[in-house]
Amino acid sequence: MSPPRLEDPITKSEAGVSPMLSPHEARDRHRHDVITRSLLVGALLCAIFAPFDFFLTGYWVDATVEALGAATLLALGVFLRRGGDRLVAALIGHIIGGAVILTVVLGGKAQDAVFSWAVLFPVLPFFVLGQRLGLLVSIVFATTATVGVTILAVLDGAQGFSWIAPFNLAGALAGCTVLAYFYEGTRAKAARQLETLAKSDPLTGLANRRGLLDAFGGAVLTRSRAPHRLSLLVLDLDHFKSINDRYGHEAGDGVLCHVAHVIKGMIRANDLIARIGGEEFALLLPDTDLAGAREVAEKIRKAIESTALIGPGGSLSVTVSIGVAELDPQYPDFAALFSSADHRLYQAKKAGRNRVSAAT
Ligand code: GH3
Ligand code: MG
Ligand code: MG
Repeated sequence: MSPPRLEDPITKSEAGVSPMLSPHEARDRHRHDVITRSLLVGALLCAIFAPFDFFLTGYWVDATVEALGAATLLALGVFLRRGGDRLVAALIGHIIGGAVILTVVLGGKAQDAVFSWAVLFPVLPFFVLGQRLGLLVSIVFATTATVGVTILAVLDGAQGFSWIAPFNLAGALAGCTVLAYFYEGTRAKAARQLETLAKSDPLTGLANRRGLLDAFGGAVLTRSRAPHRLSLLVLDLDHFKSINDRYGHEAGDGVLCHVAHVIKGMIRANDLIARIGGEEFALLLPDTDLAGAREVAEKIRKAIESTALIGPGGSLSVTVSIGVAELDPQYPDFAALFSSADHRLYQAKKAGRNRVSAAT
């Protein structure tokens, strides 16, 4: 509790020096990486097949399309690396990749089974664009490929294609699309669950320190659009060790859950409460200045003091000390705000506990 805190320190990246990514930003960055790599892999495949088709098979139309595809996909990769729009790059990349595959499929000799490459395509959009947009792009591609092969097989009567070919291709493309759709849905759900687990405290179900930092990042982002006050309370249970010693660790856990429950019942929907350490909690209060935060702290302190708990040895009461600080517009980082509130918590403890101390 007393500064400097050696146990449970706030690391530089947590402290806002290099701010943690919000889940949304992390997902965007992940997609960005996947798109860049897909573009480069696509460009590489095209670059390998272009000379192969030109010199070995003699399919110079395919070779030209592949060479153009390699150059365009590479250019899109560079565009993306230089900060170009992710969605534009992904969609153009898909159209080019799809066009190359379709040209090769429709232009090659049927008995080459070159159209088996088409099966790669329905999977990629899901990796890059997510479940919904991925499904749309995959369906457009599968339909175009199937219609193309149908024209070759049935109307054009191309050598090597039977009328069964479109059914096989449609079946394989539909199978891949459905598998990729469910795979992406399950993957995204598992990622969301992991994200929630990583940000919550298993005992109380409240946010943990990581959740608090995320909420702080979100609040600072909102502030940059529409300035508002932001305050932080840091709460520490008084003489909690003696509760554990007297009633046992399990009863101590019960007290922690009780305190969490009491505070949760008193705060607004957009306030955030987190358990940031053993018997330490923090409350992030958007749209609240120092005076308002102090009032909230005082109400919480009184509520906890006056709510008795039935423990193993009868009724037991618990008190909290609270440090309050408001974000300084000049130093809008978590470390400064936290250290200010924590310092005040230390003052409250020093002054006798069961009290609120606010930064002036
Ligand atoms: P102070 O008023 O100065 O804060 O005194 P304190 O006894 O509350 O503080 P101290 O840091 O000495 O002790 C904190 C105690 O909190 C010690 C530790 O065993 C207990 N604790 C930490 N995490 C948990 C937990 O998850 N469950 C339980 N039951 N106890 C915990
Ligand atoms: Mg403590
Ligand atoms: Mg304590």
